[in-house]
Order: sequence, then C-alpha cells, then structure tokens
Amino acid sequence: VMASMAHLQEEKLRLQEELLGLQEKLTARENDELSRSLQMQGQVETLKEKLLEQAQEISRLRSELGGTDTEKHRDLLAAENERLRQEMKACEGELRELRRQQEPCRDCTHLQENAGLQERLSQLQCEAEETRARLAELELEVQQKTNRLAEVELRLKDSLAERAEEEERLSRRLRDSQETIASLKSQPQQIKYIIKTVEVESAKAKQALCESQSRNQYLQEQVGMQRQVLKEMEQQLQSSQKTAAQLRAQIMMYEAELERAHGQMLEEMQAMEEEKNRAIEEAFSRAQVEMKAVHENLAGVRTNLLTLQPALRTLTHDYNSLKRQVRDFPLLLQETLRSARAEIGQAIEEVHSTNRELLRKYRRELQLRKKCHNELVRLKGNIRVFGRVRPITKEDGEGPEVANTVTFDADNDAVLHLLHKGKQVSFELDKVFPPQASQEEVFQEVQALVTSCIDGYNVCIFAYGQTGAGKTYTMEGTAANPGINQRALQLLFSEVRGKAADWDYTISISAAEIYNETLRDLLGKEPQEKLEIKLCPDGSGQLYVPGLTEFRVQSVEDINKVFEFGHINRATECTNLNEHSSRSHALLIVTVRGLDRSTGLRTTGKLNLVDLAGSERVGRSGAEGSRLREAQHINKSLSALGDVIYALRSRQGHVPFRNSKLTYLLQDSLSGDSKTLMMVQVSPAEKNTSETLCSLKFAERVRSVELGPVSRKTELASWPSQEHLEVTEQPPGDSPGTAAPPGRGHASPSPGQLSGRSASIRRKLQTSG
Ligand code: ADP
Ligand code: ADP
Ligand code: MG
Repeated sequence: VMASMAHLQEEKLRLQEELLGLQEKLTARENDELSRSLQMQGQVETLKEKLLEQAQEISRLRSELGGTDTEKHRDLLAAENERLRQEMKACEGELRELRRQQEPCRDCTHLQENAGLQERLSQLQCEAEETRARLAELELEVQQKTNRLAEVELRLKDSLAERAEEEERLSRRLRDSQETIASLKSQPQQIKYIIKTVEVESAKAKQALCESQSRNQYLQEQVGMQRQVLKEMEQQLQSSQKTAAQLRAQIMMYEAELERAHGQMLEEMQAMEEEKNRAIEEAFSRAQVEMKAVHENLAGVRTNLLTLQPALRTLTHDYNSLKRQVRDFPLLLQETLRSARAEIGQAIEEVHSTNRELLRKYRRELQLRKKCHNELVRLKGNIRVFGRVRPITKEDGEGPEVANTVTFDADNDAVLHLLHKGKQVSFELDKVFPPQASQEEVFQEVQALVTSCIDGYNVCIFAYGQTGAGKTYTMEGTAANPGINQRALQLLFSEVRGKAADWDYTISISAAEIYNETLRDLLGKEPQEKLEIKLCPDGSGQLYVPGLTEFRVQSVEDINKVFEFGHINRATECTNLNEHSSRSHALLIVTVRGLDRSTGLRTTGKLNLVDLAGSERVGRSGAEGSRLREAQHINKSLSALGDVIYALRSRQGHVPFRNSKLTYLLQDSLSGDSKTLMMVQVSPAEKNTSETLCSLKFAERVRSVELGPVSRKTELASWPSQEHLEVTEQPPGDSPGTAAPPGRGHASPSPGQLSGRSASIRRKLQTSG
C-alpha cells in the first residue's frame, strides 16, 4: 500500500505536475485565446471599420447614383426632351408654313430657311450625340460603381468566410478542450479526485472558461449582429441595385424615347427633305418645261436672228448712212433752207407777178366779158318789146262786148292774133305772154335785164297800154302777187349778197311822177314841188334831178315802206287815184352802186321801172279843158317815147330825148349800152279791140326797126304820132307801103319770112357801105 501509496503519491505529484502543465497550458492557451480574441477583436474592429467604410461608400454611392442626382438628370433629360419636342413642333409649324409656301420654293429665302433648318437639325443631332455621350458616361460610371459594389460584396463575403472559419476553429478547439476535459474526468478516482481538486482548483479556470465562453457568446452575438447588419447592408445594396436597375431602365426608356424622338425627327426631316425634294423636282420640272419653251423660243429667236441679221446689216448700214446724213443734216438743212427761202421768195415773186398778170388779165377779161355780153344783148336787141294780154275780169262785165278777141300761136310764143272787125290780124313781138302767164313767168324774162344793172348797165322797163290793160298789175302787182318792181329789187338784193365777197354794193331808190310834163318827187317832203332836170356841173354830160329824194334800201321791208310812202304821197295829191294814175307816168328809179374791192373798179347801174299813163286816145272823144291838155301831154310824151325808142333801135344819129320830160329824164338810161324793155299790155275784150290794135301796132313798130343804122329811108320816114295812129287806123295789110316803117304789114308773116327780110336789109346795108 505504502508503495501503492508512494506510487499514488508519485502519481499525484505527476498529476499535479501535469495539472500544472495543463494549467500552464491552459493559461497559455487562455493567454493565447485572449490574445487571439484580442486579435479577433482587432479584426472585428477593422471589419467594423471596413463595414462603416462600406456603409459610407454605399451611402456615397447611393448619393452618387442616387435619387437626387439621377432624378435631376432625368428631369434635365425630360426638360431637354420637352424642349426638343417644342422645337419639333416649331419645326412642324415651319414645315407646314413651308408646305403652304411651296409655290415660291425656288426662292432663295426658302433655301436659306432650309439651310437654317438643316443647320438646326445638325445642331440638334449634335446635342443628341452629346446627351448620348453623357448617357454613355453615366452608364460607365454606373458600371464602375456596380463593379466596386461587387468588389465590396466580395470582400465582405471573404471577411464573413474568414470569420466563419475562425469561429469554426474556435468552436473545434473548444470542443477539443471539452473532450480532453471529459477524458480527463473519466480517469480513476484519484484522478477523479485530482480532477476534483483539479476541478476545485480549476474552478477558477472554469470560471475563466465560463467567462471566455460568455465572452465567446457575446462575440458570437456580436458576430450575429454584424451578420444582421451585413444582411441589412446586403438588402440595402440589393435595393440600391434595384434602384440602379430601375434607373437604368428609366435611362433605357429615356434613351428609347430619345431614339423615338430622334426617329420622329429624322422622319420629319425625311418628310421635309422629301417635300423639299418634291418641290425642287416640281420646280425643276416646271423650270424644265419653261426651259423647253424658252429653248423653243430661243430657237425661234435664233432663226429670227438669223433672218434678221441681214436686215440688221442693212439697218446698220442705213443707220450709218442716216447718221452721216444727220451729221450733215444741219448744213444740208441750212443750205436747203437758204435755197428754199430763195425759191419761196422767187415763187412768191412769181406768184406776185402772175397775180398781177392775172389781175390785169382779169380786168381785161372783165371788160371783154362786158363787151361780149353787150354785144350779145345788142344782137338780141338792146330794145325788146314784149306783149302781155290780161285775162278777162269781172269788171269787164258780160255779153258779146267782153268776148275774147286775142288768140295765140301754139308753136311760136312771139306771135299773137287779134280778131278785129271779123279779120284776124297777127303781130309778132319779141315775146307774148298769154292771160294765164304768171307774174313769176313774166319776171323770169325780165330777170336778165335786172341783173345786168349790177354790172353797171342802165335799164328801162316800161309798161305801155290803155288804162285797165294791166300796166300797174305788171309793174307793182298785188300784195299777194307782186310785180316786176318788188321782184327786181329782191333779185338785186340776193345778187348783191351773192357777190358780197368781192363787191360792196349800195342800192338806193327814188320815186317820181310826171304829170302834165311836170316832174314831182313822190318820196319828198313836199311832193307838189316841181323838179327840174339839170346837167351835172362836172361836165360829164350826165343829167341829174336836184332835190330828188333817194332812199337807201337793204331789204324787202325797206322797199315796201318806200312804196307805201310813195303811194300815200301820190294819193294825197289827187281826188281820184285811179284816174290820176292813168294820166301820169309813175317812175321807180333804182340805183345800184358797186365797188370791186380787189380791183377798185366802181360801177353804177340804173334800173328805171316806169308805169306809163294810159295810151287810150282821149282826143277823139272831144275832151276839153284840162282833160284835153292831159290827153295832149300824154299823147306827146308817149309819141316822144316812141320816137326815141325808134331812133335808138334804128341807130339814128339824133335821138329826140328832149321832146318830153320822160325821155329827157331817162336819156342816160335809154342811150348807149342801156337796155330797154317795152311791155305792151293789152286787153282781150271785144270792146277794147281798137285800143288793143293801136297798142299792138305801136309795139310792132317799135320792134320792127330791129337792126342798127337802118336805111336812110326809114330814118327819113317820119314817126307817126298818136293822132296819126288814131287817124290812120286802117285795116291791116290793105295798103302796104303807106304805113311808114318797114312794117311787115298787118299780115301775119312767118318767122322765116321775117328773118329773111331782115337779112336782106342787112345785106343791102353791107353792099351800100
Ligand atoms: P292799168 O294799170 O293798165 O290801168 P291795171 O293794172 O290797173 O291796169 O289792171 C286793171 C285790172 O285788171 C285790175 O283789176 C287788175 O287786177 C286786172 N289785171 C290786169 N292784168 C291782169 C293779169 N295779168 N291777171 C289778172 N288780173 C289782171
Ligand atoms: P337844143 O339842145 O339846141 O335846144 P334840141 O336838141 O332840144 O336842141 O333840138 C331841138 C328840136 O330839134 C328837138 O325837137 C329835136 O328833136 C330836133 N332836132 C334837133 N336836131 C335834129 C336832127 N338832127 N334831126 C331831127 N330832129 C332834130
Ligand atoms: Mg295803172
């Protein structure tokens, strides 16, 4: 036992030693563990720091990636997008404008606009490019950040793994140590005891172990907490990753939108381009068409030009020659002017001379014409005898006394037949007016005489015949049917008016009466005053009547007034106008004075219109006293007139103008180139036959001495007086040769015989020299 005891003692010592070793070991281990836990604590500290760092990094990343910036960026993008959209709209508007104004697309302004738009488009594209670049940058950044995040995660995982390993190791060692403790416990009693002691002894160690275990627990808790934190962090990371993905999606979306907008823009640009192209094409095609037309025109013009070229050449040639001419023109003009002036002067001179010549010729012609006219009138007979038969009127009464005794020749208007005592006696005058002849017709025959008065000839028209045969009717006429007086004056007025361009004419009239060989002024203030006929004191041999009133007349009204005045004057001087008028000669003297303005030629013509006293033979009825004196005066003056006319017609050397007041007064108008007309008025009534016969005999006698200086015989043969006529009232044709003048008798010779007779007389005259 002692030995066992010693052995045990030994054993106990060894165990104690062992325990001591174990304790040492434990302390060492504890120390080790402590240091290791310290180390781990340091590691945890560093991990914590790292975690903190990571958290900070995450927050930083979050802030970098995060909401605000990205959102801002997004907002910016949205604003950019909005702006782009507005610009697009503006572009569309412009496009529409452009479409509207497509017509003048060729205009340079539109081209400019288009260029501007294109520029703008390129700008926008640049901007899009920029934004895209920025997006790419951002994407890169995000990638980097995610990389870094992954790295951090990896590191975190590594550290976690490390920690798990460490824990594993620690727990294994703990288990080991517990196992060893358990094995130790299962040793024999002493061991148990030892163990007990050890246990007692190792209470402290156990405590320490417990403490370390609790510490371990705490650490484990801490690790769990850390793990939780890590988990949270992971979650956070995940959420941040999610948000990043969201952001990326958003970015994608924006990109897509941007793309779409870009596409739209491109499309619109395309459309615009197309529009532009179309417009350009259209314009081009139009231009081509126009060009074609222009080309055609050009071709035409070219051909024209080709045809025009020769013309142009000739034109230029002409132009050059014209230019030369124009250059030479002033000189030429001056020369021509000089020569023209000279020519004109010469021409004027010539014209002047020809004018003078013409004037001279005209004057000569005028004289010649006058002479010719004169000659013509002379050939016709300066003295003409007309007969006028008045119609039978109511005043003639009724019965066989007023039977018509006058008949006419249908073929010859110069012949008249009178039935006298059962025999027909024919008379030939220059013209015979039947009862139906109007005043107008009578005047037409007289007209020529009246107009020659304007040429400066003196004219006398006498109305001869028994009272009541129509003398006054022929000369004065009635108011409704005026006679020669008024018509003559009217004709004179119209003729004078017609010649007014070259001639100045004045027409004046005087009216006088010769009763019982006394001359009275019918227009004077004292009509009863006797007027004298005197020679002009100027020695011209002209006669004039001092104190004879002369009225200047210009119209028919003037004449009518003058006539009225004359009638009143004549009527106041007698009790019975009709009777008085039949016993007096009424004279109307018209003076026409003319001045030819071009030649200065002056003419004076006198027209004497005489209503003679009745030619009836009063002496036969045995009148006495004043009636006889009247009859004698009338007879004398009518015989004197007959003598004068006869002398004139037969061209006798002496014309007995002075035998009566009447012939003396009319001397100027009966001699020379003067013209005389004797209008013999007869009544066709049976009761007037003898007077008619006398009148006609007188007429024929006046007319029969037709030609110039007729034979001496006729000159010597005395002119039968009125008395003689009365007495020698013999039947016609019964004693040819007894009736003095070369009467063709009272037979009715044919005109042929008459002209034959006058021709024979002319021949006789010519042979006798
Ligand atoms: P005288 O003057 O010769 O005595 P008048 O002229 O007084 O004659 O005429 C006498 C009448 O005869 C007047 O009543 C007149 O009207 C009329 N008488 C004369 N001649 C014509 C005639 N040709 N036509 C119509 N009546 C006439
Ligand atoms: P005087 O002028 O000398 O007085 P007139 O000429 O009056 O003369 O003539 C007087 C008259 O003699 C007139 O009746 C006129 O007819 C007439 N007589 C004059 N000479 C001639 C003549 N040669 N032949 C005819 N009768 C003449
Ligand atoms: Mg009368």
